Amino acid sequence: MKLTQRWIRFASSLKQKRGMVCELCKKKYHKKSEIVCHHIIPMKIIKHDVEMIFDEKNIQILCNECHSAVHGYTGTAKLIAEKQNIGGPMHSGASYVMQTLRKIERKIYG
Ligand SMILES: [Zn+2]
Ligand SMILES: [Zn+2]
Repeated sequence: MKLTQRWIRFASSLKQKRGMVCELCKKKYHKKSEIVCHHIIPMKIIKHDVEMIFDEKNIQILCNECHSAVHGYTGTAKLIAEKQNIGGPMHSGASYVMQTLRKIERKIYG
């Protein structure tokens, strides 16, 4: 299975498994797009380590709002983050992870 595909399944089943609840504000959500799998040890650090990317212990389920707050995306930084798809209420939060996994895939499969 491709890493990107594996991530989509992994993120989706983990959200379900943890009860669709934001682990910070404890709110329950009904749409998977309203919550994201956030890496506790940041992607910037673990981006070359596939096992760490898929390590459940390194994942916190956060709602889009808390996720933005955790990454310090407020004001202008929030707008930029939304544009760059690196977290923020407008997207699933998986884009940076997906981009990273795509890069790794390219390295593996050429
Ligand atoms: Zn929250
Ligand atoms: Zn995050």
